[in-house]
Amino acid sequence: MQTLALGRLYRDPTIQYKVASPAAPIWRFRLNATTAVYPGSFDPITNGHVDIILRSASLFDRVVVLVAVNHSKQTLFTLDERLELIRRVFADHPKVEAQSFEGLLVNYMKKHDIRAVIRGLRAVSDFEYEFQMALMNRKIHPQAETLFLASRENYTYVSSRILKEVFSLGACIQDLAPPIVIDAMRRKYPGRALSGPTQS
Ligand code: ADP
Repeated sequence: MQTLALGRLYRDPTIQYKVASPAAPIWRFRLNATTAVYPGSFDPITNGHVDIILRSASLFDRVVVLVAVNHSKQTLFTLDERLELIRRVFADHPKVEAQSFEGLLVNYMKKHDIRAVIRGLRAVSDFEYEFQMALMNRKIHPQAETLFLASRENYTYVSSRILKEVFSLGACIQDLAPPIVIDAMRRKYPGRALSGPTQS
């Protein structure tokens, strides 16, 4: 199979084409747009995530933010709410889309012919689990490659969990999550986080 890179003309990299050629009567080729998935809980999306997504979008033609469906995990935002928040944050970024997945990430990747996984690293403590996961994913799906992007300095301490925790206790998280997310959190915790210092 010959691979032809047609760049951004088409959004679906799995489409296969058949064309006639004098050299080979039926010539099959496949679009090789570069797509990466960025999996996580995104409960909710933070500025740390946004930074990783924007930097990934400068490296790939398309970034699919993949929200994990995990029935055993209690989340503040429903799956639909998490997807909607991501879609609203990236409404003006045609390269970024949000989808959900359940089960093995590599199964989603195989099904959609995607090879690259993006993960963000905040601290050395993230590394051990991430490294183990990357090796396991490659064991199950040898074509899968994990790319680690180091967190931007001002977001190394930001996680969805800590954001929810401090917000629920009344802290202002203005610079740590997109305004759309902060509004959504205000609706989850009415009367909270109306004042307090912000970080930059
Ligand atoms: P969280 O740990 O905030 O709950 P997720 O489970 O949604 O986030 O994580 C998805 C990915 O985003 C993981 O690779 C995680 O390491 C990364 N990530 C989360 N927060 C940040 C951040 N502040 N900077 C860089 N990467 C991050």
